[in-house]
Amino acid sequence: MSALSELNQEIALCRKCDIARLRTKVVPGEGAENATVMFIGEAPGWHEDQQGRPFVGQAGQFLDRLLASINLKREQVFITNVIKTRPPDNRDPLPTEIQNCHPWLDRQIEIIKPKMIVTLGRYSMARYFPGKSISKVHGTAVKKDGVIYFAMYHPAAALHQQSLRKDIEADMLKIPKLLAEAVNVEEVKPSSEESGKQLNMFEV
Ligand code: URA
Repeated sequence: MSALSELNQEIALCRKCDIARLRTKVVPGEGAENATVMFIGEAPGWHEDQQGRPFVGQAGQFLDRLLASINLKREQVFITNVIKTRPPDNRDPLPTEIQNCHPWLDRQIEIIKPKMIVTLGRYSMARYFPGKSISKVHGTAVKKDGVIYFAMYHPAAALHQQSLRKDIEADMLKIPKLLAEAVNVEEVKPSSEESGKQLNMFEV
C-alpha cells in the first residue's frame, strides 16, 4: 500500500473534532503522490463530503477549468484542504479544527514533497503568509526551504465576483513560470546572503 493510502486510512479514523461524527465521508485529498504542485483549499463542502473527494462541486469545476488554462489536469497535481471534514452548514473552519488537522497536512506534504504549494483562499494562505491580507498577497510568491508558496483567491469566492474572477484567472497563468522556477530551486545554490534569509519574496 502506498504511503498516501496508509495515511488516508489514518485520517479516516481521526475523531479529534466533533464534526467527525457528522461527516458522510472524510476528504483527505487526491492526486499524484509525486506531484510537483499541491493546491490547498479550505474545507470540504456538501458534494465533497458525499463523494470523499476534494473540489468536486461548482468551485471544483472552476478549479478544473483554471488548471486546464495552464494545461494541467487534476491527476497531475495534488489537491487537498486545510481541514479534511466538512464543517456543518459550510461554516468557516474553527481554529481548533485547523490545529487538529495540521498534522495530516504536514504528513501529506512530507510524503508528496511538492516543489510548489498554491494556497486557495484565506485559510490556507494564513499558514504560509501569516498576518497578510489576501487582497494584497494574491498572485505573489515566497520561497522557503526550496519550496515556492503562491497565494490565490478561493475559486468559490472568485466564481461569482467579476473582479476576483479576473484576478484568479490571471494569477493561475503565473503558475507555469513559477513551476519552472520551482523545479530548479534545488539546483540553484543560494548565495551566502540569500541562505541567511528565511523568506524570499519575489515579483511574478
Ligand atoms: N471548497 C474547498 O475549499 N474545498 C473543497 O474541497 C471544495 C470547496
